[in-house]
Amino acid sequence: MENKKLVIVGSGPAGFTAAIYAARANLSPLMFEGFFSGPSGGQLMTTTDVENYPGFPEGITGPELMDAMRKQAKRFGTEILTEDVEEVDLSNRPFTVKGKKTTVTADSLIIATGATAKRLDIPGAGDGEFWQKGVTACAVCDGAMPIFRDKELYVIGGGDTAVEEATFLTKYGSKVYIVHRRDELRASKIMAQHAMDNPKIEILWNHVVTKVEGSNVVENVTVQHVETKEESRRPAAGVFFAIGHNPNTTFLKGQLETDKQGYLIVKPGTTLTNIEGVFAAGDVQDKVYRQAVSAAGSGCMAALDAERWLTANGS
Ligand SMILES: Cc1cc2nc3c(=O)[nH]c(=O)nc-3n(C[C@H](O)[C@H](O)[C@H](O)COP(=O)(O)OP(=O)(O)OC[C@H]3O[C@@H](n4cnc5c(N)ncnc54)[C@H](O)[C@@H]3O)c2cc1C
Repeated sequence: MENKKLVIVGSGPAGFTAAIYAARANLSPLMFEGFFSGPSGGQLMTTTDVENYPGFPEGITGPELMDAMRKQAKRFGTEILTEDVEEVDLSNRPFTVKGKKTTVTADSLIIATGATAKRLDIPGAGDGEFWQKGVTACAVCDGAMPIFRDKELYVIGGGDTAVEEATFLTKYGSKVYIVHRRDELRASKIMAQHAMDNPKIEILWNHVVTKVEGSNVVENVTVQHVETKEESRRPAAGVFFAIGHNPNTTFLKGQLETDKQGYLIVKPGTTLTNIEGVFAAGDVQDKVYRQAVSAAGSGCMAALDAERWLTANGS
């Protein structure tokens, strides 16, 4: 079985940035870029304009940005396999990394598999419908888009994320509704109070969104009271899912320490996991920022951490 100095799992901004740094440091990284787990390039492949990634004053589309990162990683010699990692064995070094078709051993490993935003199966909100045409899962990423300016926006959820996203969106929308299926928020008391005190936020208690409609972009939502089943159709320009994320860690089968929500735990200020030689970067270990540039930054950190660790351990 072939042994690699460094294997990178995942091909979003974190994985490609780690690959660029590691390849330039002559670590000859091997990347499993995924296949069934999602498109090469990660979450940004599902969006159109990225306006907040530095270096692109006019913005750049997600696929263009990720294609450029992939080319840059390859230019310095990253080997890329278009397959998912199905299993790893971290109990012995070198670690074993088992892909769908290829199995290798690795002296070190960077996990950069991202996190998937949870979405609800609401008619009109899916792929090929109004997803990314007014329906999104990231207020910080998309809130400033012109289609949301001075319009009524709907945030689905009831935790801290929903309150944070709604508060953020008050900068842009004329009114922000939090649609919550229960009669109290799960958000911390202080956050919940903050939302209730904000004149631009209204909470629709005991409600769910049952339909999203429009022509080219979202124009209406239908909300339903969960008990009375009474429905009302309202004008809306945006629907924001804020019901959490699933970090993509199933293939690790519990071998690395995670928090309650499944995010990998790293030593603060580093990318070191609880197993020596295994590093984590990007959204899979970040439930706070979840941005392309922060993912790329931690990808850089992971490659530098791996390089130093390999040097210290004689690889
Ligand atoms: C619709 C949308 C719009 C966004 N817009 C912006 C924006 O404008 N600006 C911004 O800064 N951020 C934006 N974000 C957030 C940004 O995309 C993420 O923060 C960033 O992509 C995280 O990068 P990552 O490398 O950690 O993971 P990801 O981008 O999630 O990439 C993870 C990769 O790992 C692969 N993978 C998963 N499991 C396996 C496995 N078992 N084996 C091999 N590969 C695997 C996946 O296929 C994927 O390619 C947006 C997100 C979404 C969903």
